[in-house]
Amino acid sequence: MALTGIQILKMLPKKNCGECKIPTCLAFAMKVAAGQMEIGDCPYVDDEVKATIGEASAPPIRTIKIGAGDAAFAVGGETCLSRHEKRFEHQTGIGVLIHTEMADDAVDSRLQNFNKLEYERVGVIMKPDLIAVKDAKNDAASFVELVRKVMAEASAANLILMSESVANMKAALEVCKDKQPLIYAATSDNAQDMAELAKGAGCVLAVKGQNLDDVVGISENLQNNGLKDLVIDTGARTMKAALEDNIVCRRAAINKKFKPLGFPTIAFPCEMTDDLMLEAMISSILIAKYAGIVILSDLQGDVLFPLFLERLNIFTDPQRPMVVEEEVYPLNGPDENSPVVITCNFSLTYFIVSGEIEGSKVPTWLLIKDTEGLSVLTAWAAGKFGADLIAQFIKKSGIEDKVKHRELLIPGYLATIKGELEEELPDWAITIGPREAGHIPAFLKEWKPAA
Ligand code: SF4
Repeated sequence: MALTGIQILKMLPKKNCGECKIPTCLAFAMKVAAGQMEIGDCPYVDDEVKATIGEASAPPIRTIKIGAGDAAFAVGGETCLSRHEKRFEHQTGIGVLIHTEMADDAVDSRLQNFNKLEYERVGVIMKPDLIAVKDAKNDAASFVELVRKVMAEASAANLILMSESVANMKAALEVCKDKQPLIYAATSDNAQDMAELAKGAGCVLAVKGQNLDDVVGISENLQNNGLKDLVIDTGARTMKAALEDNIVCRRAAINKKFKPLGFPTIAFPCEMTDDLMLEAMISSILIAKYAGIVILSDLQGDVLFPLFLERLNIFTDPQRPMVVEEEVYPLNGPDENSPVVITCNFSLTYFIVSGEIEGSKVPTWLLIKDTEGLSVLTAWAAGKFGADLIAQFIKKSGIEDKVKHRELLIPGYLATIKGELEEELPDWAITIGPREAGHIPAFLKEWKPAA
């Protein structure tokens, strides 16, 4: 049965040292009880307590790390069925398949795209996470050669090694074990030997069954043999079956605490269709419904970018607005005669406004006021972006030392506070800027400091 925060607190060292990045042991205990942190995040907990608490407070879907060190990719750790109940913890890994029967130029283009396709959105870098290397010829030499090539040319990738042959897997693992790849897969025929390999190399093992029942049997056996870190492939190779299996796995783990299915899943849209657009649609559905990892047949920007955006939307925490730091941001190299613009610290607002200013090429001081992540009008309505607070921020921000003029451009939606702001900042002229960010460049190009 799950432990409460108070029960966990009793077993903690109570140093309140903050080394777990949480200020107090009580707050840390509450987070462990809620499945938001792992007991191992406290460096002072001994192994016996770790085992006791870890087992009782572990999330129903185990958190799995594929890869080594800081570059490791975490997946799983989920505690709910719907994002609005709490949040989803680790975003779906997106990977590409490369196999030994593929022509050299096809391999090269996938590796190049893996390295090249990277996007930034609201300050978040979005890029593919994994490369699945498949021993399609059942031949150790070509498998090892391909693994070496991937390691040399896409060194940032976390790896999935795919082979049915234990001997071939062993050979490939030999050249990349430091990267701690995911070993794919233990089946009913080879589970014992694959388990030994995974244990010896300290790698996560994927379980592949013919169906859910098969997966449950293999997973139970592996856990009885001491393997704790698994990834599940139910063998489904149609969209309908994969979707159903993902839902069954998630519900069984969360609602029934059914341990054999309490692991992240891996899905292969690349093996469900030859049509890249259909593959994208299948991937999109599986990202929305619980896939821990999806493997694509190719990486193309027009498919990848929408999947990244979908993933970003699903895996942001609905209880924590995305924010940027309260600060004075110099854009395009401003000087003492440059305009001063203010807006809120909701990430989307910041990136849209800063993007328009950068695009205008007009040197500008952009002041970002902490509004707790609320957008302009919402923040104003909530009393977090009123004239008094803006005035306080202007005075403490240091902007008065950076510019000779005293003119502040406020968002068009704040036009109603112009008078109040002029009272709060008697030395400043307040100018109402555009309502829409798209009009900012033209506005700034025309701007001259008030006389
Ligand atoms: S690191 Fe451990 S002892 Fe320190 S505050 Fe966190 S839980 Fe408490």
